[in-house]
Amino acid sequence: MVKIDRRLFLQGSAAAALTAAIPTTAVIAQPEVSKKKMIGIQVGAVSFVDEGTEKLLDDFQQEGINTLFLATFTYGRGIAGRQVPGQPLPDHGRHVYDTDTFCGGNYATIHPQYYKNTVFKGTRATDVGNFDMLEAVLPSAKKCGMKTICWFEDAFRNDLPNIDQLQEKELSGKNADTLCFNNPNYRNFLLGLVEDWSRSYDIDGIMWCSERQGAFAESLGASQEGGSPPYEVTCFCRYCEEKGRARGINLERARQGFLELAKYVDKGRRGHRPVDGYYVELWRLMLRYPELLAWEMLWTDSLRETYAAIYKHVKDVKPSLGVGWHISSTNSFNPIYRAEQDLAALAPVSDFIKIVMYNNCAGERMAGYIDSVHQTLYGDVPKQELLDFHYRVLDYKEKSLAEIPMKGFSADYVYRETKRSRAGLEGTKTQLWSGIDIDIPTDPGHSKCTPEGVKDAVLAAFHGDADGIILSRKYSEMKLANFRSARTALKELGLT
Ligand SMILES: [Zn+2]
Repeated sequence: MVKIDRRLFLQGSAAAALTAAIPTTAVIAQPEVSKKKMIGIQVGAVSFVDEGTEKLLDDFQQEGINTLFLATFTYGRGIAGRQVPGQPLPDHGRHVYDTDTFCGGNYATIHPQYYKNTVFKGTRATDVGNFDMLEAVLPSAKKCGMKTICWFEDAFRNDLPNIDQLQEKELSGKNADTLCFNNPNYRNFLLGLVEDWSRSYDIDGIMWCSERQGAFAESLGASQEGGSPPYEVTCFCRYCEEKGRARGINLERARQGFLELAKYVDKGRRGHRPVDGYYVELWRLMLRYPELLAWEMLWTDSLRETYAAIYKHVKDVKPSLGVGWHISSTNSFNPIYRAEQDLAALAPVSDFIKIVMYNNCAGERMAGYIDSVHQTLYGDVPKQELLDFHYRVLDYKEKSLAEIPMKGFSADYVYRETKRSRAGLEGTKTQLWSGIDIDIPTDPGHSKCTPEGVKDAVLAAFHGDADGIILSRKYSEMKLANFRSARTALKELGLT
């Protein structure tokens, strides 16, 4: 595969500039191989309602898109709804924010027979009336030969009927807004949802996304958002306790360890340096309470088991459907989270994996991550040194801490992340799809996407040997010039 893509890549002059280090012995590929690349876009119901299904599919097809990732279920604004309020509206769709009307939920018809084993039945999204996105889009998509993936995420509101019975428990004992993978009501809801879509509609696959992490990394603030307050980390519900007990974890010790960790994090954030330093003190806690890592792995394994359960359930319904996952950008910043995303371990239950490589917003996000971990485990390391350390251990190199929010990450980051992920999947049949950032909102004054930047990112993904790309996060926030520049890259690569 590597050789094939090198050759395709060499067709473009801009692309050729990136291949200087590649041996000239590349094998000539058959042109038809290039046609198999998956070119996808994430799009929500509101775009079809606002712009018309036929017209939108025509536009997508003209731009080389062959796969739709329909945001079929979510309560989050990241993949559904119009532009996020406060960000400029793009140059297509309705020029009105949906602040008052957005609610999220299921953008297809709910068939109650699939939700018998859970107290949570989901709710029908009402922000686009009775519009059933799958019913509306599938016939036209089939007609023009486009594939359709139901795309959904682990994002909920806390005012939904019976949702309290699915919620995780915080270290504090309170219910969290997030749902527990080990709670049968949540697990069965997810299985019901994918069965509903798989049986009720002629789809081509499903892709699920959970952008959360376990209590250890979350407590340390090892994410772009800075993590949760340490007493709010999850999950300590009775299902997780049962599972922990079955693994031989001492529950009291685990809880005690997290309480000690919470004190350490709280003090660090107030600038109280431990006597032996931040990093040494964390090691002392980990050595004293190995339950901290055992509990983290229990959470990670629970997510993987959820992947496996969804995979098996969909395949039992219809083996031809593709099933895979979206791995969030924390994978690019936090080495602990990256360690948990063991691609070889995930491959047996993954027909495809989308790895987020949102290079434009990555600068702002990495700066947020560095700022946060500088207050906890790396409190003794100056921030620029800390960033350089992360560049080194994560194997990419970008601009300085002062520059990255304003400049974003380069296409080289996309290339390296694709290449690394490809190597991680070596010997497996799992398709690698690089997630490309088109106009994902960033703060005022921070880096914004450009046509050239998007084009370079797409070239870099295929240069790194991706099997496909997913233009992300949602069409309703993309500017047309940036969206269309992806096709410029596809043309250079001979992919359209
Ligand atoms: Zn739990």
